[in-house]
Amino acid sequence: MTLDVNKIRNDFPILKRKVNGCPLVYFDNAATSQKPSKVIASITDYYENYNSNIHRGVHTVSQEATDAYENARKKIQKHFNAKHSEEIILTSGTTHSINLVANGFTSLLNSDDEILISELEHHSNIVPWQMMCEKNGAKLKVIPLKDNGELDYESFLKKLSNKTKVVFVNHVSNALGTINPIKKIISESHKLGAAVLIDGAQASSHLKADLQDLNVDFYTTSAHKLCGPTGIGMLYGKKEWLEKLPPYQGGGEMISEVTFEKTTYAELPNKFEAGTPNIVGAIGFGNALDYLNEIGFEKIEAYESELLDYATTRLKNIPNLKIYGEAKNKTSVISFNIGELHSYDLGTILDKYGIAVRTGQHCAQPVMDFFGISGTVRASFSFYNTKKEIDYFYESLKKAVAMLS
Ligand SMILES: *Cc1c(COP(=O)(O)O)cnc(C)c1O
Repeated sequence: MTLDVNKIRNDFPILKRKVNGCPLVYFDNAATSQKPSKVIASITDYYENYNSNIHRGVHTVSQEATDAYENARKKIQKHFNAKHSEEIILTSGTTHSINLVANGFTSLLNSDDEILISELEHHSNIVPWQMMCEKNGAKLKVIPLKDNGELDYESFLKKLSNKTKVVFVNHVSNALGTINPIKKIISESHKLGAAVLIDGAQASSHLKADLQDLNVDFYTTSAHKLCGPTGIGMLYGKKEWLEKLPPYQGGGEMISEVTFEKTTYAELPNKFEAGTPNIVGAIGFGNALDYLNEIGFEKIEAYESELLDYATTRLKNIPNLKIYGEAKNKTSVISFNIGELHSYDLGTILDKYGIAVRTGQHCAQPVMDFFGISGTVRASFSFYNTKKEIDYFYESLKKAVAMLS
């Protein structure tokens, strides 16, 4: 029942290429994932055979495009187990989804209200809330981190009060890989009447979230992190909440009637999908979910955790190597530094060996500030990576250290 990684690697054309004369070893999966042929083919197929604008035409091609777009929404609904398909809003990705929600809360909150976000957040999760607070005077409170990269749950409970109106935490941290205890956070927040928004961008490629079981109010993801195309993602919102939030952008598709005196808005989900959407992106998103579900998330989780354990054990053999974030529950991400060596220099040498890792702050400066560092090297593994690649990474890293020391 294990995953056949050699067969899987054949599905990803890019894994056959070379970089600087060496086979590409792609360990930057936390930034974006690679795309299987099936997803790439569905994009070509759309443009070659049924490209048309949706929801408007009575003609055949437009109806085919509309059906494919709405079918993608249904696949997403089913995958995340949302109750209604109109609770799935197709956005350009997590950043767009969070801005949509933060903008919606601008007129719903005032200076007596507080919102609680974690120190573990991506910049895309911090800035929209700061912008909202500037407009309505609500206060931003922060759930602190602990040394092992987990959130300080006791502190969360202390900071949560009946002033808290929104709680915002990522499901999985992109900087450290920590899996947060979101189910507990959601139920505690609900006891005090706060709405909860979970950023699932980093979680969705590693595990399957059941939104009804979590009882979450809002959940976001980006398709490009889960083998789908860039520029498409989703905002899930409970129907009651999406009906309460004002629309984010005005334009075509999102209206019901327009006169110069007054405009009435369309029903969900169109209320939040102004203009011509990323039709082909949605189709690719749906096919990426099909692809992952055909492999099966149980197999993906088991294999990735094997890769994580293997790589962690190997890397710990390197003198002065320090791993940031060793939460009990984490995904296949290793953020590290070696002595005083600069992450950028290590990343540059690894690239010469064809190895793609990320260096720097990973869009999470507060996390780096917490550890008192300017950045890390981040190696993040996916189900199409192998132990052999990890061995090569380990050997190359040792060479890089020797060159820089
Ligand atoms: C990638 C990522 C984001 C940002 O996603 P975009 O697709 O760039 O909008 C936000 N949060 C986390 C945890 C991420 O990993």
